[in-house]
Amino acid sequence: MNMILEGKTLAGLIRDALPARAAACARRLGRKPKLVGIGWAADYGSYVYLKKEIEAAQKTGIDAQVIDITENTTHAEFLRIIKSLSSDKTIDAVLVPKPLPEHLNTSEIWENLAAEKDIDGSSVLSIGRLFMCKNWKEVQAMRGFPPATAMAVMRLLEHYKINLSGVETAVIGRSATVGKPLAHMLTCRDATVKICHSRTKNLADALQNSDIVISAVGKARFVTIGMIKKDAIVIDVGTNQDDKGVFCGDVDFDGVKTKASQITPVPGGVGPVTLACLLENIIISVERGPETL
Ligand code: NAP
Repeated sequence: MNMILEGKTLAGLIRDALPARAAACARRLGRKPKLVGIGWAADYGSYVYLKKEIEAAQKTGIDAQVIDITENTTHAEFLRIIKSLSSDKTIDAVLVPKPLPEHLNTSEIWENLAAEKDIDGSSVLSIGRLFMCKNWKEVQAMRGFPPATAMAVMRLLEHYKINLSGVETAVIGRSATVGKPLAHMLTCRDATVKICHSRTKNLADALQNSDIVISAVGKARFVTIGMIKKDAIVIDVGTNQDDKGVFCGDVDFDGVKTKASQITPVPGGVGPVTLACLLENIIISVERGPETL
């Protein structure tokens, strides 16, 4: 019998603890914790996501606002915004859209985002620190944050007590946002990880030997029943619209659920946990305080 690895319960558990922690932070700081999100409305998906995060932050007792950028925002202006948010002592957390607009997408942005405020783990320092970790204990103790979506997958696997040690695991996707940091964290939990991408020859063969398949591709219902091993555990990170405009994951859920032992739905799987992890990171950022190198 297959089991649905829904994310709403875990997201609720994470979020329920946050208003009290936010209130304690506010008492200590003499002001509410503050999040600033950068809004890039041309990327509809990430903009809707940001608005959800801002609303959830406000409900948690966090002061949250958006600074919108447009195609007229120059690299110099954007860099100035990032530097100013990074150094402003009244701002505790910064959320930057990923991917950045093409005309602003330079490593200089990620080099200048303060790691302790970078709640989605995109800064050069956060990524560097994550990849220096040799095991899970070091990941948990690291300053800064791993990318929230990759962390949400790890939290879901932990919540459902899924054994990773020595387990053959395939990650489809090698982005710096999801695939690569996730593969690294899985190896830190002792999984044996295979990273697949668009140049992988015969993806189905690669997946057939995997007990856990995690898809972060961005293509509607891309992973089909014939590609996975019987009783595999399937985690779907994808958030897509199919050709009829229906919101769906990377996995053909209706087909694959009849063969998988456990599977995440979309919506209601990784997404809500990502949102909760980002909220929690705002509070952790305040609780840790400014970083001195
Ligand atoms: P991305 O940067 O576009 O990366 C997609 C990856 O998929 C690439 O590594 C690409 O390979 C690989 N790929 C593309 N076609 C493939 C194929 N035919 N076979 C095998 N691999 C293939 O996307 P991303 O930012 O990692 O995001 C992935 C998905 O997760 C998207 O749907 C995104 O919306 C979703 N997402 C969800 C959340 C959440 O909270 N649930 C958060 C962030 C992102 P190459 O490297 O060879 O091009």
